[in-house]
Amino acid sequence: MTDVSGALKNPGSSFAFSEALEFEPCEIMGDVLRFEDAALSGLLFGAEETVSIDAELNVTVRAHCARCLEEVACPMRVQVKADFSRAPGEDEYPIAGHLIDAGKAAFDELLTQLPMRFLCREDCLGLCPVCGSNRNKSLCTCLEGAVRPNPFSALNVLLHDQNNKEV
Ligand SMILES: [Zn+2]
Ligand SMILES: [Zn+2]
Repeated sequence: MTDVSGALKNPGSSFAFSEALEFEPCEIMGDVLRFEDAALSGLLFGAEETVSIDAELNVTVRAHCARCLEEVACPMRVQVKADFSRAPGEDEYPIAGHLIDAGKAAFDELLTQLPMRFLCREDCLGLCPVCGSNRNKSLCTCLEGAVRPNPFSALNVLLHDQNNKEV
């Protein structure tokens, strides 16, 4: 929580602020995301009964690669603009006493900025659909084998294609 008594007492002036934040892990699109080293810094602007922030959130998101399932650490930088009020309207956050929860506003903004999926690298080869090995680490020969006339090869290729479309 951030103390905004200075901003409330001095309408029209701005105050620099910065704070470390803790975000709980959360499940998104079947993956559990963890958040490390979250820090918010920027400016607070006071008005009569409201406070606005214009700040930057820096955070490392730990997720899993959508193709090979390895852990991915993704540093993110997100602009956070939010309004706080003693009588919050639809797009405003509350001011409780002289405290605001800037972390809540920052987390809400972060959620809107997360990529649809995380990849360990753009050209990640993913898991072999036959043996399940990580094809970035060891290129198995399963898919080469599937080229041989084999009643299951077409199915394997088909499943592989479907898996690729789903991620
Ligand atoms: Zn990967
Ligand atoms: Zn394989």
